[in-house]
Amino acid sequence: MTKYDYLVVGAGLYGAVFAHEAAKAGKKVLVIDRRPNIAGNVYTEDIEKIHVHKYGAHIFHTNDQKVWEYVQNFAVFNRFTNSPVANFHGELYSLPFNMYTFNKMWGVVTPEEAAEKIEEQRREAGIKEPKNLEEQAISLVGTDIYEKLIKGYTEKQWGRPCTELPAFIIKRLPVRLTFDNNYFNALYQGIPVGGYTKMVANMLAGAKVQEGEDFGTGEAPVDDAGSIEVHVGVDFFDAEGAPREDLKALADKVVYTGAIDAYFGYKLGYLEYRSVRFETELLDKPNFQGNAAVNYTDRETPWTRIIEHKWFEFGKDDDGNDIPKTVISREFSSEWKPGDEPYYPVNDEKNGRLYEEYKRLAEAEDNVIFGGRLGEYKYYDMDKVIASALDMCGEVL
Ligand code: UDP
Repeated sequence: MTKYDYLVVGAGLYGAVFAHEAAKAGKKVLVIDRRPNIAGNVYTEDIEKIHVHKYGAHIFHTNDQKVWEYVQNFAVFNRFTNSPVANFHGELYSLPFNMYTFNKMWGVVTPEEAAEKIEEQRREAGIKEPKNLEEQAISLVGTDIYEKLIKGYTEKQWGRPCTELPAFIIKRLPVRLTFDNNYFNALYQGIPVGGYTKMVANMLAGAKVQEGEDFGTGEAPVDDAGSIEVHVGVDFFDAEGAPREDLKALADKVVYTGAIDAYFGYKLGYLEYRSVRFETELLDKPNFQGNAAVNYTDRETPWTRIIEHKWFEFGKDDDGNDIPKTVISREFSSEWKPGDEPYYPVNDEKNGRLYEEYKRLAEAEDNVIFGGRLGEYKYYDMDKVIASALDMCGEVL
């Protein structure tokens, strides 16, 4: 006799949305997470009343009205608009690439002048059909911007030459002949007031979050009502006293949101990921860099960017008061190796082929759903993760 309808492995966005919908449909759900906290990589930790994005900055943005309406059920979003600044050896440029950037780079004043300059550099480079990130970048914004704002940053972030990276990565960034510093072309954008952890806790429907593996101790569901029980600090692969098969036996179906290659014990080989290390500091001053994100786009500075977390919420705490201190995180990119946290799937051809093989194994796995950035090995933004989870719920619930 199984105790639960679903075992959800991973309390990040995919897992939380799935658990929420399943409970709503009357299912009994057990959610486990290896970390001591819920919310996966969108987890925010409070330091001096600042919601610190512990696993990297997350700015919610979407064009998908359904997803935007959905998240409103769990959080109020503020009006934060992401406008990172690029620092190239102390020269500052506006991002994404727009008229402010072009004016600073070339002194051009009108959109026609900017377009001409880009066209001239594109022609000189002689690129017809961009085959990689370098060619794609030069054909979008020309060589000067590529050299100062893209090349160094990208090679630090991905640890690979731009000529070996897929073109799609750079297409994430808008190029505009207007004075618009909004990093995203999304209809909707903002940061959940109170932090992402609270938003995910609301998705988990107020479930009691407990440490360890004493399963079955959550609120007993009444009749057919759905329920969610959350256990943190439980490793699906290495739970004390409960090997993976025992955990799986607790539920009819498993929703697995960890790395797909890890699930299969890497038996077809390792998929490549980029990992990130954060050096976080609490500073005894109110303002370090005057912006949430500053990207260090030269090759020499070892970090890719510095996040100053308070600016995601305009320097205010949840009660609307100014915060006298500040928390910053320097971000260092590295190649993932076993034991590290995987952050970015490397969606190039080689890894794409290996993923397809794992996906075939996943499809043949009875009663296991693979989802999320790691489960689907896809450079997903948050809204896409939510959309993917909702689609899956529509299929199976
Ligand atoms: N990028 C860049 N310079 C920047 C910011 C981004 O060249 O200052 C490139 C880089 O290749 C990066 C890609 O754009 O991998 C996508 O950036 P995005 O900000 O979307 O990455 P994320 O926020 O997901 O780390």
